[in-house]
Amino acid sequence: MTATPKEIIRSSQWHHLSVQEITRHLDTNLETGLTSAVATKKRDYFGTNELKSKPGKSPLLRFLLQFNQPLLYILLIAGAIKAILGQWVNAGVIWGVTLINAIIGFVQESKAESAIAALASSVQTNANIIRNGKKVQLSSTELVPGDVVLLTSGDKVPADLRLVQVRNLQVNESALTGESIATEKNTQLLNLDAPLAERTNMAYAGSFVTFGTGKGIVVAIGDATETGRISQLMEQGTSLKTPLTRKFDKFSRTLLYIILGIAAFMFAVGLGYGYSWTEMFEAAIAFAVSAIPEGLPAVVTVTLAIGVSRMARRHAIVRKLPAVETLGGATVICSDKTGTLTENQMTVQAIYAGNRQYKVTGVGYAPQGEILLDEKPVNSDNSSALEECIKAGLLCNDSYLEKKDEQWQVVGDPTEGALIAVAQKVGYSRSSLEQEMPRLDVIPFESEFQYMATLHETSSFVIGHTPHEAVRASTSLANDKGQRIIFVKGSVEAILKRCQQMLDAEGNFTSVDADMIHQEVDAMANLGLRVLAFAKKSVPVETLHATSLQHADIENDLIFLGLQGMIDPPRTEAIKAVQACQEAGIQVKMITGDHAVTARAIAQSMGFNKNGEVLAFTGSELARMEKSELATAIEDGAVFARVAPEQKLRIVEALQSKGEVVAMTGDGVNDAPALKQADIGIAMGGAGTEVAKEASDMILTDDNFASIEAAVEEGRTVYRNLLKAIAFILPVNGGESMTILISVLLARELPILSLQVLWLNMVNSIAMTVPLAFEPKSERVMQQPPRNPRESLLSQSLVKRIIAISIFNWILIFGVFEWIRQTTGNLALARTMAIQALVAGRIFYLLSISQLGNAFIARLRGIRQKINDASAIGIGIACTVILQIIFSQWNLMNSLFSTAPLNLNQWLICLFVGLPMIVVSALVNRFDPLD
Ligand code: ADP
Ligand code: MG
Repeated sequence: MTATPKEIIRSSQWHHLSVQEITRHLDTNLETGLTSAVATKKRDYFGTNELKSKPGKSPLLRFLLQFNQPLLYILLIAGAIKAILGQWVNAGVIWGVTLINAIIGFVQESKAESAIAALASSVQTNANIIRNGKKVQLSSTELVPGDVVLLTSGDKVPADLRLVQVRNLQVNESALTGESIATEKNTQLLNLDAPLAERTNMAYAGSFVTFGTGKGIVVAIGDATETGRISQLMEQGTSLKTPLTRKFDKFSRTLLYIILGIAAFMFAVGLGYGYSWTEMFEAAIAFAVSAIPEGLPAVVTVTLAIGVSRMARRHAIVRKLPAVETLGGATVICSDKTGTLTENQMTVQAIYAGNRQYKVTGVGYAPQGEILLDEKPVNSDNSSALEECIKAGLLCNDSYLEKKDEQWQVVGDPTEGALIAVAQKVGYSRSSLEQEMPRLDVIPFESEFQYMATLHETSSFVIGHTPHEAVRASTSLANDKGQRIIFVKGSVEAILKRCQQMLDAEGNFTSVDADMIHQEVDAMANLGLRVLAFAKKSVPVETLHATSLQHADIENDLIFLGLQGMIDPPRTEAIKAVQACQEAGIQVKMITGDHAVTARAIAQSMGFNKNGEVLAFTGSELARMEKSELATAIEDGAVFARVAPEQKLRIVEALQSKGEVVAMTGDGVNDAPALKQADIGIAMGGAGTEVAKEASDMILTDDNFASIEAAVEEGRTVYRNLLKAIAFILPVNGGESMTILISVLLARELPILSLQVLWLNMVNSIAMTVPLAFEPKSERVMQQPPRNPRESLLSQSLVKRIIAISIFNWILIFGVFEWIRQTTGNLALARTMAIQALVAGRIFYLLSISQLGNAFIARLRGIRQKINDASAIGIGIACTVILQIIFSQWNLMNSLFSTAPLNLNQWLICLFVGLPMIVVSALVNRFDPLD
């Protein structure tokens, strides 16, 4: 390759250079692109097209931030007071435990952060480029300067490009220039001093194509791009904050004030009783420490992170952490039809052309099959209208079929693949047809217009092969220059209104019978077929401007050729998932650009009609409605057809105004506003545009509706596990703080010391609560209605449960302590046994709220209940037991934590007094099941 010095690549004068100069500098060719060999060499030289991510916060800072919690301030201060009092061991242990807590928090947070960041970046951005003279799709990281990139609406511009060809290309460069309105691009040479925002012949990495198509040469990649230079733009950091963690922060701040207030009160009362200052410090610290749920933040982070990885395993990649929680509360899911609810495996089954109805046999995209008329195979030249209709489908087409592993597959749009397959069944070959009629231009399909058109040259002026047409063609042409043909395909509504005439079976022109055609469409659509209409237009060369095709060229005077109806079977998993959603009280709504009758037929076949008729509305019906009428229609309807992407936003807003929590899927450029507005915006990983992905909270890697349902299931499980963790941790704090408060007020010995509390709340709590984050989903999780979005985390029943278990915990600690103290007079032993009894009770409580315990109880009742995975709970309990044995049997721990070793009898006593917890918990579970 000719030398392409870095200086040239780094120059930002590309807008000022002519295309010839650029191709020469970069040693490339606009038509054939780079060769693989050159591309490889260039990659070795320039590196990959990636931004080196700027380092986020330093690890040390992130570690120190772990201490930045009000609850931990108290601990640090408590340690300091102990140190001032000269109790160095105590101070050391408090600080040590705080430190361990911070380390655990730091490690867990880093792990969660990097897992989420890795997931987000695992969704790769692809670019369409020309290499070795062929159009290929590559990961955008593979691009090198000189590559020729093809852009279409919805693409993320993969590198800095000098544009060489545009068709209505509009690019949103807000990330770079802050300008939120898309800029119209062109290919004109610009002055050297044109500012970045006005370099209309350039497309910069990181911006989005919002409209049209274009072609450009890569002039800069990676950090050399304009985006790469603006470093602060790339400050990448995953936030672990969600509405829930914010609620927790608020909750713990309130709790802190309450605790400090009570501690001060207790301190004063104690002094009044004649306790010494040091005694009261110990009591106040013990109280403060006991009331703080130190283990909770770690559990919340772990639970959310596990939810994210479980969802990823089920094909849902969470881009924004709050979605994990919100998903569990979804009340409505609005889903695309094609490809999400259906297979997107299209097969043409019916054709209507020249007033005749044909059937098509065969499956998938394989060329095997026949076209039948009255059950008899037809050969292609039986009817000119049929022939033209099939030809239009083949030529007005941007996709192709490929045989891979004995399977015919479509590369491109499945709708178009089906049209190719049917043409192959009657022996048409795309390549020979295109040789006969080379394509000159194309208007690509956009949902907005609902049609696609191509312009073709015809070498002979005989159009079609029927005598009638030939005669007409030759008489209408004054010269031999030939004619050009436009083929158009699209929705019936879009095509039919542009047609005045149609071809009959023999190839004669007759006037269009719209009513009859609509009847045919309805008949096909009622079978769930997706119907496409075809038309053509012959234009003499001189009436067309050069060789380009504009929307205005096909505004009218089209000749209707026929209809093709294709089946797109529902996905079996999606049918089950729709059912599961309905059981779970979640409404499913289908939103599609397809025909209302087709959409409704599919919805019906998928079981959308739980309570009778499936109510369907079309976009234009919605557009005519008043605001209140609209909200009701959207709430009641299950199918919304011929919906323009802009209307999706209105649908989301209407649902939200009714208090719904809305999940909405989308794939196109115009879906972005709706995806942003929805509580959970879901983009398609496969068929979705980069614009949609960027706007979404979650990406489906398999584009399957069933994955949304799976994500909701996991979201509900996350929420449930969080509730369980709260229901598990808070009663211990409650029990401990009640114990200390009451003991002080009754002027008794403290049954539990501050360091022992610390052990319970940190070491013991983490060992026992983290397993709750791993709790598998319950069988019942999708059999209950969604939670009330307005309900607070600490619901009334949860508070009642916490109080009830707290009281039992208090009885355990206080009772065991007083009993052993009075019978043995050994304070250390009494305290140790009180703690071990509390932990025993905790183990039983943990079992009773876990699925392991539930399944066990169900077995006792003779019900077989599946346990999915209970190993985490088992490991947690085993660790707890070992830690507790060390805590009381090891003499080092005895001196650090003022504990005493127990004998076997004493161990058994602790176990037995904890046992009634099962009954207490069973009673509580009956009123407020956590599962
Ligand atoms: P959906 O994806 O919800 O089925 P689309 O917006 O893709 O809806 O399609 C809307 C209508 O546009 C279809 O019903 C069909 O009539 C027409 N259409 C779809 N794909 C193409 C295409 N590739 N070329 C021409 N028309 C198309
Ligand atoms: Mg589509």
